[in-house]
Amino acid sequence: MAYSYEAPVSQSLFDRASVVTPGGVNSPVRAFRAVGGTPRFMVSGTGPYLTDADGREYVDLVCSWGPMILGHSHPEVIAAVQEAVARGTSFGTPGEGEVALAEEIVARIEPVEQVRLVSSGTEATMSAIRLARGFTGRAKVVKFAGCYHGHVDALLAAAGSGLATFGLPDTPGVTGATAGDTVVLPYNDLDAVRAAFAAHPGEIACVITEASPGNMGVVPPADGFNAGLKELCAADGALYISDEVMTGFRTSKAGWYGVDGVRPDLMTFGKVMGGGFPAAAFGGRADVMAHLAPAGPVYQAGTLSGNPVATAAGLAQLRLLDDAAYAKIDAVSAELRTLVGDALTKEGVAHTVSSASNMFSVFFTDRPVRNYEDAKQQEAFRFTAFFHAMLEQGVYLPPSAFESWFVSTAHDERAVERVAAALPAAARAASEATA
Ligand code: PLP
Repeated sequence: MAYSYEAPVSQSLFDRASVVTPGGVNSPVRAFRAVGGTPRFMVSGTGPYLTDADGREYVDLVCSWGPMILGHSHPEVIAAVQEAVARGTSFGTPGEGEVALAEEIVARIEPVEQVRLVSSGTEATMSAIRLARGFTGRAKVVKFAGCYHGHVDALLAAAGSGLATFGLPDTPGVTGATAGDTVVLPYNDLDAVRAAFAAHPGEIACVITEASPGNMGVVPPADGFNAGLKELCAADGALYISDEVMTGFRTSKAGWYGVDGVRPDLMTFGKVMGGGFPAAAFGGRADVMAHLAPAGPVYQAGTLSGNPVATAAGLAQLRLLDDAAYAKIDAVSAELRTLVGDALTKEGVAHTVSSASNMFSVFFTDRPVRNYEDAKQQEAFRFTAFFHAMLEQGVYLPPSAFESWFVSTAHDERAVERVAAALPAAARAASEATA
């Protein structure tokens, strides 16, 4: 595909980066491999806008993959960070900021009785799984195809065919031994989960699921799916782990738990709770968390865990996220969903705008999408054309058809109008695209 616009400064930065960094990026999806073209090197962000190294401004519908729920450079978050930085950047001791952030999380999310702070979502899920294994004395972990929980070795297992298939490593470097205790099942399929428990009674430490998946595009849980998981886990003595790294503090004040009310044994958080800094967490039942060092025998630690600057940013952000903030984000999301759907309909493009609270994505198919296999049936080549037409007109979408779009409280009428103005040409590009 040829691109009619150029980004010479980003291109030269990408060339430099590619010499010293594998693939030129520090996280693969940033490299635009799924859509082609030159990844944009961003130099600044204000409200709903990002500016790249070539001086072009974009309406940002990625929001740093979720964290920037108040938009970029929110003055109160920046002030909290500046104040924290002025006092020093890391002490390696306990500090009041981390207590306050933990209290805020516990106050918002009722099933979280205790919480441990870490630095990334990957660390949170990895630690939660270790804790589940340590607590239950069992080895096996059930996960769902299309759910991403960070690059934890045991969770980088692809779906095999059939029910209760043992996971095969999805990437070189993950050994069969590591992935061999992972059971990968189709999402939204409680019968498959029942069959896995029947095949491995008393062996499954935990079922981990995205509270509402956003990593295969947005595919919400079917009615009763999360409640069914919880029930099956409880009946077998396994733990139900709800990964809210993406949905936490985004889909409502209490994340997806605030939407479906299904009470997990353990939960994981990241993204929004760090205010744009590396802060994440896992927490849940006090009797389970009591097994964590130094209270208990399951080891877990981190030099920068509870970092004072990151906790200040996260706390400032969470304190600004009141009911009015969520109402605003929900309204902007609904408006954009309608605009995108209408534009694609007008051009006769088969599509489904899929949403879970204010998270949404577009599947280029009109068939129902309930799991990863369904998601992969879409005509992703249409997304590529759509993405580049939007980028050219100054709208920054996630560079993959399998990612959620994110909005913030800063997405005002002007930003929405800019997206609306870009949509007709992008929908036309999608309709004219060929595989
Ligand atoms: N869990 C979910 C649901 C995620 O979406 C992600 C990242 O996108 C992670 C875990 C991993 O978080 P991190 O990238 O901070 O390691």
